[in-house]
Amino acid sequence: MKIAMLARNPDLYSHRRLVEAAETRGHQMDVINTLLVYMNITSHRPDLRYGGERLTGYDAVIPRIGASVTFYGTAVLRQFEMMGVWPLNESVAIGRSRDKLRSLQLLARAGIGLPVTAFAHSTKYSDDLIEIAGGAPVVIKLLEGTQGIGVVLGETHNSAKSVIDAFRGVKSHILVQEFIKEAGNTDIRCLVVGGKVVASMKRSGAEGDFRSNLHRGGSAQIIKITPEERSTAVRAAKIMGLNVCGVDLLRSNHGPVVMEVNSSPGLEGIEKTTGKDIAGRIVEFIEQNAKPNKTKTRGRG
Ligand code: ADP
Ligand code: MG
Repeated sequence: MKIAMLARNPDLYSHRRLVEAAETRGHQMDVINTLLVYMNITSHRPDLRYGGERLTGYDAVIPRIGASVTFYGTAVLRQFEMMGVWPLNESVAIGRSRDKLRSLQLLARAGIGLPVTAFAHSTKYSDDLIEIAGGAPVVIKLLEGTQGIGVVLGETHNSAKSVIDAFRGVKSHILVQEFIKEAGNTDIRCLVVGGKVVASMKRSGAEGDFRSNLHRGGSAQIIKITPEERSTAVRAAKIMGLNVCGVDLLRSNHGPVVMEVNSSPGLEGIEKTTGKDIAGRIVEFIEQNAKPNKTKTRGRG
C-alpha cells in the first residue's frame, strides 16, 4: 500500500514508529508536512499539492495533526477524504475530539460516565458553577488546552473563583469540573484501535502535581483494567467516531469516568510501558480496513 502520514515532525517517536511499522510490512509511507500542503478547493476533481507535485495514488492517510494546527490540518484531511482516500481517523471525528466541550456533550448524551462538569460564558455565576461541580476543590480547564497546560486545581471556593475570573478576563473558554480526588493523581490511558483496547497504562503525576500528563513529569506503569473500564473506553471511541484514539479515564467512586479522548495519541509512553507493538497494530488495522471511497462522512458534517 501507499500511505501518507500528515505530520509536521518526522522525527517524533510516534511518527518514526509508524513509518517503521509500515515499511516492515512492505508498504510505502510518505511523511507529509501538513502545513506545506496546498490545494485548489474549488476544483471539481479535488486535489492536493505538495512541493509542486500532486499527491496522488494513496490508499490511506494517517492524520497526526497537532492540536495547534487542527484548523488547517483537518482541511487538508478533508480534501484527502473528498479524493476518496481512506483516513485512519476522519476529519469530522478529529474536529469533534479537539473541542472538549463538544466531546463531553456527545459522551454525556450517550450515557458515558463523566466528571460533573459546568460551563458558562459569563463570570456572573461563578459561585453557581463551582457549586454545580460539587464545590471546591474543583478542576478548571481551558477548553483548548493540551498536555496538562491550562488545567488548574481550585482548592478553595475563592481561589477557584479567581482562576475562573482570570481565564475569562483574557476571553478564554473554560470548564469547571468535579475534582476526582479518589483517583489519587492517577489516570488510565486506554489505547483503542479498531474498537478494541490494545494496551493500557496507569499514569501518575509528579510529586505534588494532580495532573498525570507524562509531559508534566508524570510516570507510567502497566495496569490491568476492569471489564467496565474496557467497555467504557471502547464505547467512548465509538461515540467520537475514532478508529484510533487514547481514552483517558479516572477511577472515581461512581465508576470509571472519561476525562478526554485523544485522536493523535502518543505511542512512546504506551509502547515503552507495555512493550507492545502498537504501531504494528495500527498498520494492521489500516491493511484490513483501507478501501477507496469508504470514508463515512467524506468531510461532511
Ligand atoms: P489535557 O488535555 O491538558 O491533558 P486533561 O483534562 O487530560 O487535560 O487533564 C490533565 C490531567 O489532570 C489529567 O491527566 C488528570 O491527571 C488530571 N485531571 C484532569 N481532570 C481531573 C479531574 N476532574 N479530577 C482529577 N484529576 C483530573
Ligand atoms: Mg490529558
